[in-house]
Amino acid sequence: MGGDGGAVNDFDGLVAAVTGGASGIGLATARLLAGRGAVVYALDLDPEVPEPLRGLRTDVADDASVRAALAELTAETGRLDVLVANAGIGAQGDVAAADDAEWLRVLDVNVVGVARVVRAALPHLRRSPSAAVVTTGSIAAHAGLPQRAVYSASKGAVHALTLAMAADHLREGVRFNAVAPGTADTPWVGRLLASAPDPVAERAALEARQPHGRLVAAEEVAAAIAHLASPLSGSTTGTVLAVDGGMHGLRLRPE
Ligand code: NAD
Repeated sequence: MGGDGGAVNDFDGLVAAVTGGASGIGLATARLLAGRGAVVYALDLDPEVPEPLRGLRTDVADDASVRAALAELTAETGRLDVLVANAGIGAQGDVAAADDAEWLRVLDVNVVGVARVVRAALPHLRRSPSAAVVTTGSIAAHAGLPQRAVYSASKGAVHALTLAMAADHLREGVRFNAVAPGTADTPWVGRLLASAPDPVAERAALEARQPHGRLVAAEEVAAAIAHLASPLSGSTTGTVLAVDGGMHGLRLRPE
């Protein structure tokens, strides 16, 4: 903890890796962790990140790439304390819209991608006095969103995998939690809106469908991730924290 006018430097001296850390929720999280004292690496297909973040080109769908990134990171730092397994891709359509190749492509990035990076990080995390993993799940895992069959299945698996890992590694001192964001205002959603016939009207309609009348800010998801990753949350493991304007907790039905 730091004495900077009450600022919390709870990540002082810690090293964090954030997959998908070059954009959206991952970038907001990387910035927040760095602001609270961590040395932060963004592991992303896109290695261009603003200072003080360090970018490492990584494809979570490629085991050799993940291993190489973790090896480079730990060679530089000698440690890894926090892993944010956040990289993910979207997919539209009902169950029949995707062929096997599309199913496997999305599951490979969103689910096996989490497992790959945890597998490579675990030996280092086990040596940390405050090891924490946070995964990025989704409201889609438990709300029954229309036209998101493959994506929803992948995020349901992320939630279940996170709880399973929390149980398996509890006594090793590695905590695992997930965040489940609602529709968040990131470049991803920006791209979806931009492809609509009337992006402004589409955004207004999307905002109106959210329980609190607006999109979730990437920084709000980052704050939840930082809370779960913080050494101050040492007794919190095996949880899925919704950041969705109340949609799941209030059992509201998305249209
Ligand atoms: P984004 O597209 O803004 O950022 C995703 C980042 O992941 C990009 O920098 C991209 O290069 C990287 N990435 C993609 N595939 C990768 C791969 N194979 N290896 C390494 N990096 C890869 O998206 P975002 O909205 O910030 O989404 C981040 C996470 O949040 C995803 O897991 C997504 O499913 C989840 N999520 C997003 C929303 C939303 O509404 N934006 C809602 C719920 C959950």
